[in-house]
Amino acid sequence: MNQELFDSVTELIKNPKAYPAFPGTANNSYKCKHCQHICRVSGGSKIYIKCGILEHRWTNGVGTDIKANSPACSFFQLN
Ligand code: SF4
Repeated sequence: MNQELFDSVTELIKNPKAYPAFPGTANNSYKCKHCQHICRVSGGSKIYIKCGILEHRWTNGVGTDIKANSPACSFFQLN
């Protein structure tokens, strides 16, 4: 497992409800930042990055934040 995927897996363990499928399961070289489902939500002076597929599960906390550099999951759609 490469470092990037390892970091994403670590993130997934911290935020299991943030990703609709396991990071890296798109089996390509794209990342969340290339996907049309990535959402940048402003809250106060900060921007929070979340996956739009799981909008119904979003919280106001970091528990549903994703990493823009996570390897794409199987729900990936090129932006
Ligand atoms: S690849 Fe797309 S669908 Fe998958 S978690 Fe990232 S933003 Fe969401």
